[in-house]
Amino acid sequence: MKSFLVMQGHTYVEEKELGFIWAAKKDRSGMPSHSWERLSEVKKGDLVFHYVNGRILAVSVAKANCKMADRPSNDEQVEQLDEKGYYVELEYHELDVPLPIQSHLDAILPLLPIKYSPFQMNGHGNQGYLYPCNEKLAVKLLGLIADVNITEVEDEQLEFAMSAVVPVERNVLLPFLNTAESRVRTKIRNSEQKFRKDLMRLWASQCVLCGIDLPELLKAIRSKPWKDSSDLDKIDPYNGLLLCANHAALYEEGFIAFDGQGRLHISPQLSDAHYEKYDLHRKMKIARQENHKHYLKWHKRHLFKS
Ligand SMILES: [Zn+2]
Repeated sequence: MKSFLVMQGHTYVEEKELGFIWAAKKDRSGMPSHSWERLSEVKKGDLVFHYVNGRILAVSVAKANCKMADRPSNDEQVEQLDEKGYYVELEYHELDVPLPIQSHLDAILPLLPIKYSPFQMNGHGNQGYLYPCNEKLAVKLLGLIADVNITEVEDEQLEFAMSAVVPVERNVLLPFLNTAESRVRTKIRNSEQKFRKDLMRLWASQCVLCGIDLPELLKAIRSKPWKDSSDLDKIDPYNGLLLCANHAALYEEGFIAFDGQGRLHISPQLSDAHYEKYDLHRKMKIARQENHKHYLKWHKRHLFKS
């Protein structure tokens, strides 16, 4: 199960009413677009967040895999394009309270990928149509959406209580959000468990830098973080290092990195005093294998505080 974020404008109303998202294969100049082609990746059961004008208005589930079809329309006069496009049939769940992205930037920014991010750093949506939404961002969005919508439900129940009206219709939005969140969390948990187990085996259950071997203090850290990883990268044991808590923090924050040869690079932001405290030496080298190389380089290029 994957998650996506679709950027809709004035087409939202019709697309929601008819339960779909759609994109042409090529634009007017004949060029394909990554954000249109991405529809072809959507499979039955996948989750889609609907962003319109700064806010998430709905969350939907794909009812079937993407297929090639004409764009559905309420307007029979509308001229059909010559070519079929990517069509995904969706079950929309419109939110009682939409989620404004800019009000939650602090929580969202750290989870945005470097490549193909749906949002800019100021919280505005990017130009494309369909973006990938990694599982950790999906969990965050589902949590934020539930928070703002739970308050609304409580207010409603209070009104019911005061007017002594028994609510007949149960709110279906919150159970839906809970189910979606637990599905995404299960995917994260399974990947994390496998990843850690594989790293413990690969590095003989020791910190690659200092050799600390207390399992409680060892962390399996991805060189290419979750938000930037493909599904394969997420569970590839070579996309990771087993590090003690201190060294893990230094690596994740980019204060240390390793080059393709496995040689340690220390950020100039660390002083000589830190070297001693963290037991770091300029000539340290880890026993990296060939498969580690491109992940170590990715980390050094994108995260190292040089
Ligand atoms: Zn260590």
